[in-house]
Amino acid sequence: MHPHLVFWISALVRMLTVLGGAAVGWFFWGLVPGLVLGLMGMVFLICVQLHYLLSLADWLDHPSSARLPDGWGAWTEIFSRLYKLRRGDEKNQAELTEWLARFRQAMSLLPDGVVIMDDVMFLEWCNPTAETHLGLSLTQDKGMRVTNLVRTPEFIDYIILGRYDVPLTLSFRERKLIVHIIPFENRRQILVTHDVTESERIDMMRRDFIANASHELRTPLTVINGFLEIASMQPDLDVSIRSSHIKLMSEQGERMQRLVEDMLTLSRLESMEYSVRHERINMRALLGQLLQEAEALSAGRHHISLEFDGPDIQGSSDEVRSALINLITNAIRYTPEDGTIKLIWKNLPQGPKFIVQDNGIGISAEHISRLTERFYRVDKSRSRETKGTGLGLAIVKHVLLRHHANLVIESIPGEGSKFCVQFPADQVSLG
Ligand code: ADP
Repeated sequence: MHPHLVFWISALVRMLTVLGGAAVGWFFWGLVPGLVLGLMGMVFLICVQLHYLLSLADWLDHPSSARLPDGWGAWTEIFSRLYKLRRGDEKNQAELTEWLARFRQAMSLLPDGVVIMDDVMFLEWCNPTAETHLGLSLTQDKGMRVTNLVRTPEFIDYIILGRYDVPLTLSFRERKLIVHIIPFENRRQILVTHDVTESERIDMMRRDFIANASHELRTPLTVINGFLEIASMQPDLDVSIRSSHIKLMSEQGERMQRLVEDMLTLSRLESMEYSVRHERINMRALLGQLLQEAEALSAGRHHISLEFDGPDIQGSSDEVRSALINLITNAIRYTPEDGTIKLIWKNLPQGPKFIVQDNGIGISAEHISRLTERFYRVDKSRSRETKGTGLGLAIVKHVLLRHHANLVIESIPGEGSKFCVQFPADQVSLG
């Protein structure tokens, strides 16, 4: 039945009850008592309605489904409908709160910064990444204008121009950020920041590497091409001059070969596809071989000794060999004749340690932190003279990184250098 009809029928029943009461009063006690009885009935009905109105007003101050008053007559229906509405609201609100909490958590995990602003750039909300990228603090800066918080001319110009279809590259607080502003709804804007500092650095390293490698390869190629041109233009060149040209060309060819081999080694080490092989490395045999190679390279010009008191380790034998031979050959190349080179293999509580100590030319402090950069040399001409490629220590760094080992360099110019490789204790081969 239609609710309106139910309402009117129940109201009619109540009024008829009161009228019936008045008629009974009139019948038994006369007109006046009958009217008084009817009036009292009406007043009672009005008081009941007022009571429920008051209860409703009270409830509306704190509308919770748990404390909805019981009703009477039409009020039962009204309260039950209010109860259903309220329950629905409470459920929606709980879902909304939960969704908002989840949304905030997801936003706080985003690697990109997200700032929500109104149409005139007042900060409404931002995630922790945006706080880090832009130096904001949501608790302190909420309600402030973002252009007052991010005070760089490029950002302000970007806002003034309003060409938000093109992202802005912003250098801010030692970071490189890509900033995007996306208008949404009609009075809100989202500002998204993406940190490209690391990828820019890698890109720059790659560009530098290509430029350096091309430069390194161009020099020997120019020499070889020069001699080839002389040979083709002057076929009757003196045999001794010709053979000296051939010697120089083959030296440059060997230099190019060393360079390409080192570049290939580096790229192989960097490639993530190659994981470290875990084999037992017989350190006594390996260091014995390296000592022989060092003596052959030195050709009696240095006093080379090996102190062996360490365990075998786990790792890639080829990689560890290439790292250690690089350190040893450097010691020979940068130590003048009659110098001393000590190779030490020992075990420490923190793990096995390899030391190459020389009393050669040494390195001044400002160069030490940069020695493992590709093509970094303290003295370019000396490195070339001694057949260096400038990639040796970069290879060492990569091999050690893959073996969780670290390199410490100590050096005093004119007195000598000490290159220490510390392997972790768990790299020791047991049994
Ligand atoms: P290079 O092929 O030029 O030797 P490396 O990467 O092996 O390249 O070494 C980088 C630079 O570190 C060298 O050019 C040299 O200046 C310096 N260096 C390395 N080892 C020594 C050492 N034992 N004594 C002095 N300088 C060294």
